[in-house]
Formats: sequence, structure tokens, C-alpha cells
Amino acid sequence: MKTPLCDLNIDELTALVEKYGQPKYRAKQLMRHIAAYDCFDEYTDLPKSFIVQLDGEYSVRPLTEVTRVTASDGAVRYLFKTESGDLIESVYLPHDYGNSVCVSCQVGCGMDCVFCASGKHGLVRNLSAGEILAQVLYIARDRRSVGGVNKIVMMGSGEPLANYENTVKFIRLVNAPDGLNIGMRSISVSTCGLPDNILRLADDGISCTLSLSLHAATDDKRKQIMKIAHKYTVKQLVEALRLYFDKTGRRVILEYILIDGFNDTKYDVTAIKDLLKGLCCHVNLIPLNPTDNCELKPPSKKRAYAFCEQLKVVGVSASVRRSMGSDVAGACGQLKNRTVEAKTLNNKKS
Ligand code: SAH
Repeated sequence: MKTPLCDLNIDELTALVEKYGQPKYRAKQLMRHIAAYDCFDEYTDLPKSFIVQLDGEYSVRPLTEVTRVTASDGAVRYLFKTESGDLIESVYLPHDYGNSVCVSCQVGCGMDCVFCASGKHGLVRNLSAGEILAQVLYIARDRRSVGGVNKIVMMGSGEPLANYENTVKFIRLVNAPDGLNIGMRSISVSTCGLPDNILRLADDGISCTLSLSLHAATDDKRKQIMKIAHKYTVKQLVEALRLYFDKTGRRVILEYILIDGFNDTKYDVTAIKDLLKGLCCHVNLIPLNPTDNCELKPPSKKRAYAFCEQLKVVGVSASVRRSMGSDVAGACGQLKNRTVEAKTLNNKKS
């Protein structure tokens, strides 16, 4: 299999052009074609002989679209196939203030949270930095006429901090001045909570928006819905967030899925308040997106907003996040699961 050209950063592209005896400035030309998700035919400012050499070793479009579903609110869920034949999902979310793309960083996920569709079949493999980037490049090209892409959220399938090197390389690639040049402040990384790698991010100078999927403020409750809670305590996580804030100066986000009757009571308000005391943060409340074969339910809208108000009363900055695209199998991994299930069904029929 060929290496995706978009896996290479400017230093690696410079080494590549030098290897083929080309002048150094060609690295920037390559970078601009990569950012436009051009096919080799469109590399018209480079010598044909060089393109033939590149084509022997590298691919320029590592993802092909399998299907897409457009929601009534304008969100588009794409299902892509990688060159190795794996299926991954990405979502385009149009907003008044700019367009974001939610990317996957792994095929499947090894974290196995009870409410999440991505982890249902375990982890298959890590995506390379270029495969993560290609999701953004493809969608930016597809949405060129409506402003492209201005924001990235790493909230698709997979755990970014369990694919640490590729996640960091992807962030640097998408942030590169000759690439899409998307600012650190416009990139969000969401993690189920691996404290050592949260600190590593800060040490590596990645000052993006960090979101921790908290979902319960006590270890007992968290253990009931998230396997990772058996490994790290909520105190350890909050300590890591505190250090991340100290190093980067970036307010952190706590994601909190609302599950009816489980984590949306007065007891939980107090637990959240006590846990987050003194931390510069904001809590995003997300009514659970029901997934296939999972019995957990979201609370009513009224109950969700009441919970939010109670948090504010005790001094916790919080808001209820609107879940976009839920009419197109909005929760991570569901379009892929349903497509695979439909195919299996069709194969069985024929
Ligand atoms: N592994 C990372 C990022 C991927 S999941 C993480 O855990 O943060 C992105 C976000 O979607 C996480 O906050 C996750 O908990 C949430 N999520 C997963 N399934 C969901 C569902 N059914 N309803 C609402 N949010 C969900």
C-alpha cells in the first residue's frame, strides 16, 4: 500500500523533494496541493517526471466516500473507506460562526463506554495523521462553496490520547501555515481521560481546547458507565486538567452526558460542584443520544435545563449543548454500524 502524501509534514516533504533532486520550494507547492486535496492531475505547477516518481510511492486521496447522510439542520455525516478497506465516519457541522468537522482518530475504539456506539466492536487500528487529516481535507473541498472548514473537533470514533503521536502530528499538520492553517483555539480534543497524555499535550505545546468526557463526578458512578474509570480516578483527572490550564492558560471543558435518573439529580449537582472547585472550566451538558441496543435514555428537555440552572446556582459555569445531526444517526459510530449491519443482512439474503 502507498503512503498518503498528506501524512508528511513540511520537513518530511522537504526531505522528499531533495531526495528527488528538486528545489526546496517544491515542498511548499506540495503542501498547498495537499491542503486543496488535489489529485495528481491537478499538480500542474510541478514537473511531470517528478509527479510520476511521487505517484509510484505515494497516494494523494487516502479516503473514498461510501455514503453520506444530510440532516435537516444541515449537518452532513460522511462514511469513508480507507485504502485498507476500513470504514470511518466524519461529520460536517455548519454554524453561524463557522463550519466545523468532527473527525475520527481510530477505526473502532478500545474504551468501551456503555453509551457509545464506536466502541461496540472494540479497537481495530489507529488512523495515521494523514488519514485523520484527509477527513478534513475531503470535507473542506466538498464544502468549498459554503466557506470550507474553520474548526476541528476530535470527537468522532476513537480515543485521541490513545493514538497520541498521530493525534499530535495531525494537529500540527492542520495548524500549519501552508496547510489549512486552522488555529489551535479552533481545534478541540476530546478525551475519556488519560492523565499522563493530558500533561504530555501541554508539554508538547499543544494549546488546543481540551474536553474531558466526565459524565459522572464520582468514581463509583463513573465506573458504571466508563471502563477507563477503573484505571484513573476523577481526582487524578481534575488534577491533570488543572496542570493543563496552568501550562496553556486555556479554560478546559467538561463534557457531561445527561442520562435520565442516573447522573442528573441534586446529588450530582453537589458532586460536580465539589469536584470542579477552583478549576477554570465550563461544563457542556449533552442529553444522551440514544444508540441501538442501549437502554439508557436522555432526560426531558425541561429536566436537562433545570439541571443546568442548578449547576449555575452553585457557581458552576454550564450550558446545555444542542446535539446536531441526531436525525442522521448522530451519535459516534452509528452510521458505520448500521451500514455494516445492512450489508451483512443483504449478504445473508443473497
Ligand atoms: N474518546 C473521546 C472522543 C470520542 S467520543 C472521548 O471519550 O471523549 C466524543 C464525545 O461523544 C464524548 O464525550 C463521548 O462521551 C460522547 N458520546 C459518545 N456516545 C454518546 C451518546 N450516545 N450520546 C451523547 N454523547 C456521546
